[in-house]
Amino acid sequence: MPEIKDYLENVNTLCITGHVRPDGDCVGSCLGLFLYVRKNFPEVSVQVYLEEPSEKLAFIDGFNEIDSEYPDHEAYDLMICLDCAGRDRIGKAEKYFKDAKHTVNIDHHVSNTMFADENYVDGQSSSASEEIFKFMEPELIGRDTAIALYTGIIYDTGVFKYRSTSPVTMQIAAELMKHDIPTDLIIDESFYAKTYEENKIFGYAILNSQLACGGKVIYSALTQKEMEEFGVSSKELEGIVAQLRLTKGVLAAAFFTETVAGDIKLSLRSIDPFDVNVVAQQFGGGGHIRAAGATIKGSLDECIAQVLSAMEKNL
Ligand code: 5GP
Ligand code: MN
Repeated sequence: MPEIKDYLENVNTLCITGHVRPDGDCVGSCLGLFLYVRKNFPEVSVQVYLEEPSEKLAFIDGFNEIDSEYPDHEAYDLMICLDCAGRDRIGKAEKYFKDAKHTVNIDHHVSNTMFADENYVDGQSSSASEEIFKFMEPELIGRDTAIALYTGIIYDTGVFKYRSTSPVTMQIAAELMKHDIPTDLIIDESFYAKTYEENKIFGYAILNSQLACGGKVIYSALTQKEMEEFGVSSKELEGIVAQLRLTKGVLAAAFFTETVAGDIKLSLRSIDPFDVNVVAQQFGGGGHIRAAGATIKGSLDECIAQVLSAMEKNL
């Protein structure tokens, strides 16, 4: 297995990116790598590009140095994509990818399309943050990187809950804890904390949820108008689909939200043996067996009908 230092030989400029609508694992892994490179390889000019992430992650060092403007830049010597299942997931960073002299894809999505020059994808791994840790030398990891990676692991394991949490995940978390990081604050800030408005819309979405497929599926939906009324953006709906999934007797949960552009964002969660990645892929998306998503064109009602029908067939 290569190490970060092997990749950085003869590299002057490094571009790091994650996926569109970056989540805790995406931001944690990207900033973890950014901070590691900045500390140990000061001769390398490194930049992280991500769409504007949630301010909840602002406690991670380097957060304010994330570039969400995507200015033109001469071809990067190296581009590393983290937590991206496919080339279409890197969004506006595509222009750097296209020109980069060398590209590396480090990920944990089973649906990964192996789109880079070098691809390291482990569908069994809990998170991109766990994956990128394996490329680092533990003694070179600083407290700031430890906080970033711990945040990513917390986020993508649902606080060490999902099946993807392995003994290796726990060993890596233990290694990161040696840096005297505020684990309680990280868990609250990155996973549980909600604003007043977020709590309200959370309750509203649960209140409006419906059972389908003979009670095996639960779903809920939010229109742009409703989000505006509650004063929340699509970034502030975390945890709703996870709570729906916890409904007794349900095998899968679907959560539909209207995007500003008028498309429908679908979020899926399931329990054994329901594979939501298969369903998401039918709608041009993907993800993991137990957590997947897609962005679909069409009206909310049409999308709900189509997705429920696909889920029924998958039961
Ligand atoms: P979420 O429901 O939290 O947005 O996403 C759950 C999982 O599905 C994440 O691992 C995410 O990467 C994946 N996912 C969500 N939306 C899409 C999409 O439009 N395309 C693909 N390929 N994966 C998605
Ligand atoms: Mn991830």
